[in-house]
Parts: sequence; C-alpha cells; structure tokens
Amino acid sequence: MATKCTSCGEQITSLSIMYKCRQCVDHFVCQLCEEKEHNRAGQLFHTLDEMSVSAAKSMANSATASSKNCNDKQESNKCTSSNSSIFTSDEYLYSFLTYCKHCHRVFSIEKETGFECQECKAYNVCNQCFPLMKTLHSSGHTFKILSENLPALTLNGLYHFGVTCNGCSSECFTGKRYQCRECSPSYDLCEKCFDKKHTHHEFRYIQHFMLFAHNRQILAVRTMSLAAKNGDLDRRDSITGWTVSDAERIIPQVTGMLQSYKSEFQEEVSKLIRDLRGAQQELDPVEDLKRRHWWACW
Ligand SMILES: [Zn+2]
Ligand SMILES: [Zn+2]
Ligand SMILES: [Zn+2]
Ligand SMILES: [Zn+2]
Ligand SMILES: [Zn+2]
Ligand SMILES: [Zn+2]
Repeated sequence: MATKCTSCGEQITSLSIMYKCRQCVDHFVCQLCEEKEHNRAGQLFHTLDEMSVSAAKSMANSATASSKNCNDKQESNKCTSSNSSIFTSDEYLYSFLTYCKHCHRVFSIEKETGFECQECKAYNVCNQCFPLMKTLHSSGHTFKILSENLPALTLNGLYHFGVTCNGCSSECFTGKRYQCRECSPSYDLCEKCFDKKHTHHEFRYIQHFMLFAHNRQILAVRTMSLAAKNGDLDRRDSITGWTVSDAERIIPQVTGMLQSYKSEFQEEVSKLIRDLRGAQQELDPVEDLKRRHWWACW
C-alpha cells in the first residue's frame, strides 16, 4: 500500500526520503512538508525521523525490530541535542493541550488552530490534518475551531479558589500563580504582582491543578490510544515516558481533580456573581462566567 503524507495528503512516491513520526503509527510526512515551518515548530511534541521509502516499507513489515533500531539511532542523534521535556515546556505549564486524533500530535489549543468534531465526543484534529477530514471523517460531521472556546481554555479562565494574592489582596485571582520559596505560611502573588512585590525572595510558578489535571488527562488518553494503535501495551510513550498501566493510574486521579474543581466552582459561583455585581462589571456576570467556564456545562 502506498504511503500518504499526513500533512498534504499526497502519496509519497519520491524515490529518496520520507519522514516517519516516532509517536504515531500512521503519521508520515513527505520531504516538501517536512521543510515547512509547521512541522519544524511541532517537533517538540512530534518527532519526525528521516528514512528512505524502502526502509519505511520494511519497517511496516517488521515493526518491532526496526523501531528498536530507530530508537537507538535517535537516542544518539537527537535526544542529546534537546533536553526539553513536555513537562517543562511552556505549552504544558501555561496552556491547555489537546492532541490530534489523526496524527496524535500534541498541541496547545491557545497557540495553534485546532478543530473539534461537533458530533463525535472529544474528536480533535490539528490544522495540518483538518483538510484530510473531508475524505477520512464521517461526511455528515461538522468541525468547529477549538479556540472558539477561548478564553475558557486559557489560564485567564481559571480561578485559584481559596488563594489570595499577598500583593494586591485579590481573592480567587485568575492567570498565573507564583509562590514564595521561603515564606511560611505561604506567600502568593498573582501574575500582575509577580516581579513587582516581594522581590527579595525567590518564587516558583504553581500550575493551576485544573490545568495540571487536564493536560495529564490528555497525555494519558493519548498514551493509551497510541499503545492500542501500535498493539504494544508495554511500550513507553516517547513524549511522557508513560506505559499503559501508568496512564491507567493517572486517569482516575486526574478525573477526580477535574471533578473537585467543578464542584468548587459551583460552590463559589454565587459568591463570585455577588462580588462581580458589586464591582459593576461591564459584562453580565452570569454570561461572563458561562463564557469563561466551559466545564460548567459538563
Ligand atoms: Zn506532504
Ligand atoms: Zn505524529
Ligand atoms: Zn494531526
Ligand atoms: Zn465526527
Ligand atoms: Zn496581585
Ligand atoms: Zn518570601
């Protein structure tokens, strides 16, 4: 069977070079597409390895053996040159992630255009795979742009319940949260006050637990989906290092966190609405909260 490029959908007939994604079974990229900006930019979450078309064919025939060789080769070539891990990336720490159901690439909803099927549950695709959905996805289904849910899907849509900024005294602030490494009891700053107040001590960034839970859930579901696709349950995911059993442990844990935020949110809602009315916000507070909190409709 001829291999098609995931980016442009064209058959890869070139005699020489193609690229296979290390994370995805069915993600191949032709040489032209590999040279394009979007594939280079995506490499943090998506590793394309150069190979000849004939090697790709033999790899498909003996998947286990050649992927081992391939990994050994990459360990020496690429992994040493980049020490970035998804868990220390800005995308993971500061933005909501999702992954493409077609190519399994992980991306930030805020930073990249992605699409969501209106009919299927949680079927998202990346910008590069979206054109392929015309032929590959059920014809009656419609897609909408994921970032239409912004700002709900950003840090500005998340409240730090029970936390008060020690700089400006705002309660349940949104956005980034920083905590002093030295003071006890804890000394917290919102992102507006960070770097302006309490500068004699060092701070660390505290990722909102809702964002933490969401991103881990996405990565765990992706790990399981890839393992099922590859037919190898003991495989370690190359982005997270997780196996299927790691993912199975993580999913109930983060689902509990997501639920706890949801109930915390519901408890706080009436209080927040009162506060917002008091502050005479321009926006209708109820509409504003609905707009900012997509999970309120779960
Ligand atoms: Zn292509
Ligand atoms: Zn891929
Ligand atoms: Zn994709
Ligand atoms: Zn669909
Ligand atoms: Zn503040
Ligand atoms: Zn301090």
